[in-house]
Amino acid sequence: MTSTKNVTGNIIKLKNLDANIQKLIHEAVEARTFAYCPYSKFKVGASVLCEDGTLYRGCNIENACYNVGICAERCAYSKALSEGKTKYQAVVVVAQQEDRFTPPCGACRQFMSEFGNVDVYITKPGYEDVLVTSLNELLPFQFEFTNNQG
Ligand SMILES: [Zn+2]
Repeated sequence: MTSTKNVTGNIIKLKNLDANIQKLIHEAVEARTFAYCPYSKFKVGASVLCEDGTLYRGCNIENACYNVGICAERCAYSKALSEGKTKYQAVVVVAQQEDRFTPPCGACRQFMSEFGNVDVYITKPGYEDVLVTSLNELLPFQFEFTNNQG
């Protein structure tokens, strides 16, 4: 069974992607090396390209109290958001499963959807093949807050 069973998107060779996306992927690969994951040993790196061209990286950060850990994608977004960046072009997720693409978890999809649709690039060790999709494809019916209380 392939990793793409529940994901829509296209698998594209890294070398065929735009140079700025290749750079974004390299940044996520490097960020992954900083993952703090003594419990799961599951390293994840992420990077986000802001609308203005700036770039932020993130890694997963675990905690002895498991549920206060943070995923790489939310780490990268939080770094960008805390610098006033709220508009994004693309996000990259890199994990270590050689046999599959590791997509953002449900919590990260919802978190990122707060800031609009983005292109999502997912790659895996070897960094040759890249699954190219979008947040709207990964989370087609996201929760949106509406206040109907008048
Ligand atoms: Zn997540």
